[in-house]
Amino acid sequence: MEQLKQLLRQIHGKGYKAYKNIKGQYQFPGFTLNIDHVQGDPFAAPSRISITVPMRHAGFSEELWESTDSNPIRRIALEDFLARALKHTIHKTIKGCRGSGCSGIITIETSGQQILIRNAMIVTAQSIEARIVMGLPADGRRVAGIQAQQMFYDELPIIIEKALYAKNLSVADIQTHLNTAEDQDALRHQLKQHKLVAFIANGANLPRSSGIDDTPLATGAITFQSPPSLQQTIQLPHAGTITGMGIPEGITLIVGGGFHGKSTLLHALEHGPYNHIPGDGREQVASRDSAVKVRAEDGRAISNVNISPFIDRLPFGRNTQQFSTENASGSTSQAANIIEALECGAELLLIDEDTSATNFMIRDERMQALVSHDKEPITPLVFRIRELYEKHGVSTVIVMGGSGDYFDIADTTIMMDAYQPKDVTQEARSLVRGLSAQLSGQLNNLPPFQRTTTRKPGMESLNPSRKNRDVSIDAKDLNTLFYGTHRIDLSQVEQLIDIGQTRCIGLMIHYYANHYADSAPSLAEGLKQLMLQAQCKNLDIFSPYKVGNLAMPRKYEIAAAINRIRNSDWNSEYSATP
Ligand code: ADP
Ligand code: MG
Repeated sequence: MEQLKQLLRQIHGKGYKAYKNIKGQYQFPGFTLNIDHVQGDPFAAPSRISITVPMRHAGFSEELWESTDSNPIRRIALEDFLARALKHTIHKTIKGCRGSGCSGIITIETSGQQILIRNAMIVTAQSIEARIVMGLPADGRRVAGIQAQQMFYDELPIIIEKALYAKNLSVADIQTHLNTAEDQDALRHQLKQHKLVAFIANGANLPRSSGIDDTPLATGAITFQSPPSLQQTIQLPHAGTITGMGIPEGITLIVGGGFHGKSTLLHALEHGPYNHIPGDGREQVASRDSAVKVRAEDGRAISNVNISPFIDRLPFGRNTQQFSTENASGSTSQAANIIEALECGAELLLIDEDTSATNFMIRDERMQALVSHDKEPITPLVFRIRELYEKHGVSTVIVMGGSGDYFDIADTTIMMDAYQPKDVTQEARSLVRGLSAQLSGQLNNLPPFQRTTTRKPGMESLNPSRKNRDVSIDAKDLNTLFYGTHRIDLSQVEQLIDIGQTRCIGLMIHYYANHYADSAPSLAEGLKQLMLQAQCKNLDIFSPYKVGNLAMPRKYEIAAAINRIRNSDWNSEYSATP
């Protein structure tokens, strides 16, 4: 402990590079400090530090966070709780920026409204490890050793004691955090046995503060109340019996006037695969793990995707069984997004008219009369959606306020009326006109929907090295991933919620390229193995050195990133078996 103090005194006033000498491990009373990486100058990314507190000091009994089965959900929730506690304490206690560049800052990465698996806080039976970053203080470009001493010896021990010792935290708050997460997990796992694709508890608060702020709307929010006909009761381990609206498997239509809360409901379902923190309003909202939002995304690249179930007979006979483009249209992009989601095992598609291509969704009778079937390459989703459910077990929830065409094929129709759901299934059915003879004829002639089974990216597309330079993988922001020479645009991948996931996706693609790209028969199969590996090890296996800034993505978002690599070569066989 004295050793670090001495070192800092010695290098005080020297050039910033002298900080490199302090890399290493130091024993403090009650914790071990590891200086894992020292920044090169005050303006570079801050230094990486990890702190290990033995569990006998921290005092979180294993009964608190251990689960009976092998599901680590309580441990993940405790890690989340502690990271937030540490962040809060840092904010309240640390002096913050002092000197040039990032001098004096201390931060830890945490999630927003969701509880994600991260590697900033790691709880085991033996210890708690917190990974933070610290801006080692500088005066201009000189070491400010005295200030650094203050950070390591005055500030650090205080924040550790306040945030990582059970005796200084509210046991009730911790219990609530862990129980809430465990309940959500249990709720999600019960959906299948109840033949539901999603559940929204009565009393849930769905609207958000704003389009760019995921916290709950503070004033004027109308809480959710299920219509009696769709009400379901579910037993949770901690909350006990809860009631709410169950969305059954099949095709569900969400209708209603503009600004009545349709998209807000769908957004809640998009986030339904994630657990939410207490107070979020969506703690008892869950959708199937494999729910994927699909939208139009014109301009995206598509590589070797069989979009022929939706789009065929393009001008000049272009092949749509192995369709590639650097600049997709609204309809071709939405078709590819669906096919790619199905390829990875999506069992629930979430679609909003606000972000869909109209010609992909519907084609009304008058348009069919004007543009004959053999001139229109698009088979709208409305013609395929029942087949997807009946033959392939894929359910869909669609927001559609502007067209009645989906009444014909919906199992359940929910009307959002002044933010409240009503079951209007019967009324919608009474409006079904029946398909015109011409249309039924066309439907009968549609070739069956076939799923691709063997598509995978070529090795060269996944190589992140840039000519003779080092491998470079980094997230610029939530929506932009740099992977070698590729810049991958994820701005339309709406279920990606955290920049830590974006970073992790980059590293996981690299791992996938090294371990599975060659041997796995398809992208879907390789990703399955990758996710298994991520779950039974931890996120550290993906990074060449110790970091605390990763969060676990879903496999659908990893696939989305791989699918958006431009100019990539893919192999696929067009499989004739459905
Ligand atoms: P739609 O998709 O039907 O046009 P939105 O879901 O976009 O409507 O909602 C319109 C507005 O109403 C948004 O600003 C949203 O935040 C707000 N809103 C949605 N649901 C609620 C609610 N339950 N209580 C209060 N405001 C809500
Ligand atoms: Mg809307």
